[in-house]
Amino acid sequence: MRHLRGPAPLPGVGRLLNEAGYRRLRERYPYALVADAIRDQLAHERSAGAVGDAERVEEVGARLAAWTGPRLRRVVNATGVVLHTNLGRAPLSRAAAAAAADVAAGYSNLELDLETGRRGDRSSLVAPLLTRLTGAEAALVVNNNAAAVLLMLSALARGREVVVSRGEQVEIGGSFRMPDVMRLSGARMVEVGTTNRTRTADYEAAAGDRTAALLRVHTSNFRITGFTESAPLAELAQLAHRLGVLLLDDVGSGALEELFDEPTVAEAVLHADVVTFSGDKLPGGPQAGIAVGRAAPIGRMAKHPLARAVRVDKMTLAALEVTLRERLLGSASPVSRMLTSPPDELRRRAGYLMVRLQERGIECERVEGASAVGGGSLPGHEVPTVLLALPGPASRLAAALRRGEPPVLARIEGGRCCVDLRTVLRGEDDLLQDAIEAACAACATVS
Ligand SMILES: *Cc1c(COP(=O)(O)O)cnc(C)c1O
Repeated sequence: MRHLRGPAPLPGVGRLLNEAGYRRLRERYPYALVADAIRDQLAHERSAGAVGDAERVEEVGARLAAWTGPRLRRVVNATGVVLHTNLGRAPLSRAAAAAAADVAAGYSNLELDLETGRRGDRSSLVAPLLTRLTGAEAALVVNNNAAAVLLMLSALARGREVVVSRGEQVEIGGSFRMPDVMRLSGARMVEVGTTNRTRTADYEAAAGDRTAALLRVHTSNFRITGFTESAPLAELAQLAHRLGVLLLDDVGSGALEELFDEPTVAEAVLHADVVTFSGDKLPGGPQAGIAVGRAAPIGRMAKHPLARAVRVDKMTLAALEVTLRERLLGSASPVSRMLTSPPDELRRRAGYLMVRLQERGIECERVEGASAVGGGSLPGHEVPTVLLALPGPASRLAAALRRGEPPVLARIEGGRCCVDLRTVLRGEDDLLQDAIEAACAACATVS
C-alpha cells in the first residue's frame, strides 16, 4: 500500500537520523523534534512523491526552522493608527517594559505586605496611584476592560436589571457586545431611548424595583452625529441617587489627562459609582481592565469569585505601576507623545527619510494625511500628519514590507503605499529606511 505511488521505497526515520545532514540538525534541535520533522516530511512525500536526499534534508531543516521560529514579534507600525489593537495597542515606556521584565525574572511582593509580612492583595499595589490620578475612593485591576465590565455587572447586578441606552449597545472588536456581556453576567438589560436620542426621563421611566443600576457605555468606536441627544452623566447620577441604584460608566479608552475632547476618568468618577476603562488605550500602559469608584461597589467586585478568574498578572502590574507613576509625575507616555507630535516634526522626519531614500534611487513623495487614534478611542478624531508615499505597486509593496525583517505595517492611501511616521517609534527610522529599500528592491526584481 505504502509504495503504490513511487517506485523507490521511502527511507526509515531511524536510518535518516544517523545520516550526516540530519546529525547536523540534531546539534541544533532536540532528537525527538528532528525525528518528528523527518516523519512529517516522509508523510508529505508519501502523498506528494519522493524527493532527492539533499532536498529532503533541506525540507526537514525548513520544517524545524518554521516550528521553532519566533511567532510574536516586534513590528514597525507605520499605519498611523496609534492604538492599533491588531498591533498590540500601546507601546510601553522603556521603564514600564523594564519593570515587567525585572519582576518576571524573579520573585516579587505580588501578594505580600513587606511591612507586616502578612498576605497582601495584588490590586492594592497600584490602587493608591489610581485613586490619586482619578479622585476615586477605590480601585481594582483585572485582565482587561471586557473582564472589568463583566465583573462589574456580575458582582453588582446579577439577577437584576440594568438600564442602558439603545444608542450605546456597542460592539467592540468583534466579540465584545454589550448585550452578550450583560447576558453572561446574569443581569437583565433594559434598553431605553432610541439609537440617536436618549433622555434622562427615558431611564427614569424604565427603572423599577428590580433595577440595580443605570449603565452608560462610551460609544468609543463610532460616533452618531446629527440629531442626537444623550443624558448628561450628572443628571443620570442625580437620578440614580434618587432611585437608590448604582450608576456604572464604561468609558473605554480612559483618558487620565485632558486629551482632545475625550472626557477624563476623573470627570466620570465625580458622578458614577464605578468607572471602567482599558489600561492599554489612552493610559498608555499594558493590557488591563481598571475599575475605579466608590469603595463599597469596588469591594464587592474584588470579593466576587470571578475576580480571581480574571485577575491580572505580575508583569502587567509591574508595567502598569510604572505607567501610572509616570502619569502622576506628568511625564508623557509614548502614546501621548505620538498623538501630540506636531505635523512639522513629522514633515521633517519624512523629509529626512525621503532624502536618504532618494540617495538610493527611491523617489518618494511627501503628502498630507491624517493619523487615527484607534483602539476604539476618539472615533472621528483625526490628527493631521505627513505621509511618505512610496513608488511602485501599492499592495505588493505593502506585502513586501509586512513580510520583511523587521515586518513593517504600512497603509494604502490614494492607491499608493504610504508610511505614517507618527506611529514609528523613536529609533526606528533607520530600520524603516532599510525595510523600505528591501521592499522596493524585492518589488523591482519581481516585476
Ligand atoms: C475597548 C473597550 C472595551 C473593551 O476593552 P478591552 O480592554 O479591549 O477588553 C469595552 N468597552 C469600551 C467602551 C471600550 O472602548
